[in-house]
Amino acid sequence: MLVTGPSSLTSGKPYVWDVAAMPIHYTVDGGPMSMTSTGAIVVDHATGLARVQAMFQTWQSVSTTAISFSYAGAITAAGLSADGDVDTVSEYNAVQTSCKNGTQSPIVFDSNGAILKGLGLDPLIIGFAGLCKLDSQAGHILSAHVLLNGKFQDGVNDPATSNYELTSDEFDEAITHELGHFSGLDHSQINVEVFNQFAGSCNLDDLAGLPLMFPLAYCQSKKSAGLPLLAPDDRAWISKLYPNAGYPAAYGTISGLIYFSDGITQVQGLNVIARVLDDPNTAQDESKRTAVSVVSGYLFTGNPGQPITGNNPGSSYGSRSPALIGYYEIPVPPGTYTVQVENIDARFTGGSSVGPLYFPAITYGAYEFWHHNESAYDDPSQKDPITVTAGQSVSGINFILNGTPPRFDQYENGLALLHPPAAGWSSARRPGGTLLRRGM
Ligand SMILES: [Zn+2]
Repeated sequence: MLVTGPSSLTSGKPYVWDVAAMPIHYTVDGGPMSMTSTGAIVVDHATGLARVQAMFQTWQSVSTTAISFSYAGAITAAGLSADGDVDTVSEYNAVQTSCKNGTQSPIVFDSNGAILKGLGLDPLIIGFAGLCKLDSQAGHILSAHVLLNGKFQDGVNDPATSNYELTSDEFDEAITHELGHFSGLDHSQINVEVFNQFAGSCNLDDLAGLPLMFPLAYCQSKKSAGLPLLAPDDRAWISKLYPNAGYPAAYGTISGLIYFSDGITQVQGLNVIARVLDDPNTAQDESKRTAVSVVSGYLFTGNPGQPITGNNPGSSYGSRSPALIGYYEIPVPPGTYTVQVENIDARFTGGSSVGPLYFPAITYGAYEFWHHNESAYDDPSQKDPITVTAGQSVSGINFILNGTPPRFDQYENGLALLHPPAAGWSSARRPGGTLLRRGM
């Protein structure tokens, strides 16, 4: 997620749509969602519109969130034909201009992939999302956009011409993920061990807990497995960003700090996961199914800037408060949890990144569970359960990593990177595999 920076009234807050101004109005391309290269319509406008509305509804239906969306008619823009059909690069650019002006939040159907091609983008992108206009003082998202590549729904699966096909469930899951970004959500890493399983047939316990906001679509569609699209992590975070009146009775919070082995220096960029305790009396593994994560230092900037290379003042996003460098906070349903820390997977870079750093900070000694009496020499597998009740904030769940290299000096955190945060996200299908890349 984007986080407010130094120019904001309150820095270190995730950018969100204004809850007082719900619903969020979006406009939709007036043309078909998908057509073949010869112009035959495969998914017509009415069907495409209904699918987009259903995808927004998936997020809006979470019982503890106040986020809501409303269809505001066809896209309109200067230079766009009256039917609202966006099918050339110049029309797309006109629509982008109106999004950047905050006039509308458009959902564009690139029905045959011609816009992506014309923009010089990877034709294997399934779709992408981006925030268009921000109110950096208030920390509000004012407009955002999504593009859907209808070529993945044109009924043609011909790898020889890079024309791949997805099932409608797979396609809609990829686009619903993009709508998560549209809503301000970042990627999440939970059950990353699915990468050790056969692509397309992941273990159901892992799949149930796998966030829709996981950076890559590696497993079978959740719908085909009889699972809800949104995992507990997705539901927790859309609710934390946009809580409704029911939220306090449905969630508590676990928070703390991650330290290097010196027990003093905070570590940014590590994944922290709260997992509910497994019930040994069921066949399911609840610790895989009910889990919520965040990245340490998620409210701190990924690029604090420094004057030596002229990279000053660094990113306009994220807090500069040193107290937040290693801070994490996880919303959890009431229950008893273990908390663990791990590295972000090395595959998750750039637009597929998870958390505030553009490239993962692979930290030695990062894998361990929390227990009482944390030290740099403890058993990383020792875990003490933490019970959280509704509305309760359990703080001070601090980790001291084992055997990390010594810090250079007390003013060095060693993890600052010089890359700007991703400006947008995309989903793409890679040839020769089922990896759907979400990120640009
Ligand atoms: Zn994404």
